[in-house]
Amino acid sequence: FLEVIMKKILVILLIIVFACSLFVLSACEKDKKTVLYVYTESGFPPFEYSKGDEIVGVDIEIAKAIAKELGMELVVRDVMFDSIVSGINEDNAIGLAGITITPDREQAVDFSIPYFGDAIQYVIYPKGALELNDELMIEGDLLKNKVLGVQTGTTGDNIVQVEVKEGGLFAGATAKGYDNALIAADDIGSGCDYVVIDRLTALQIAAANNNLEASQIAGLDAESYGIAVKKGNKVLLNAINWILHNLLEEGKIDQWLEEHSESIEE
Ligand code: GLN
Repeated sequence: FLEVIMKKILVILLIIVFACSLFVLSACEKDKKTVLYVYTESGFPPFEYSKGDEIVGVDIEIAKAIAKELGMELVVRDVMFDSIVSGINEDNAIGLAGITITPDREQAVDFSIPYFGDAIQYVIYPKGALELNDELMIEGDLLKNKVLGVQTGTTGDNIVQVEVKEGGLFAGATAKGYDNALIAADDIGSGCDYVVIDRLTALQIAAANNNLEASQIAGLDAESYGIAVKKGNKVLLNAINWILHNLLEEGKIDQWLEEHSESIEE
């Protein structure tokens, strides 16, 4: 009789253990979200920049909104800018780094709808070193034969190099590659003469430095930023486009641009 009771207790115990482990497992499953990898380069304020140990900025706000909407865990990876487009090989990875949508890059990745269309190349230079034209822009021939600091692999880098090769705006200039525009701007007057980089980043770098100013280069086209996803990853692309559409509609991106407009700390 005692044996029967012992057996029953054992069975009940086993059931309890089994039920508990199931419960724990399902709880774990719930916590284990799929990761969304966001590749960026943190030297591009106000879109991405360092604040203490953190990377923040407009693009990071967008990344957070996407991860939240998709129920994914956000992991930001700070890499060299010129490795981003070629490095988007996973279905759960995106490039969010103020990346200009260009035909060349569209060969390698798919782009979202544009989320920022007000970019164009600016030059950062020592105050008073360059004279503006009537439209308050810098004529390209003022940059001839100069050493122009650029962020390696950017549209600015490409424009300088192509124009130099073709004897255009920057004939005789040299493009000198840096990891980002912040580092390049620090080198003005020693390693390079001026820096060529996108508008908002140039304006912020100049605003944070008493000795520098920034102006638009005449004769160049406007650029639009998009989010890069792996080629053919339609499900993620459609989801991102929908989320971006809503963020734009709600004025969120303008709000974040405002919030991050004085992002560089001295
Ligand atoms: N918009 C430029 C490009 O796509 C620069 C981007 C950046 O420096 N993060 O090349």
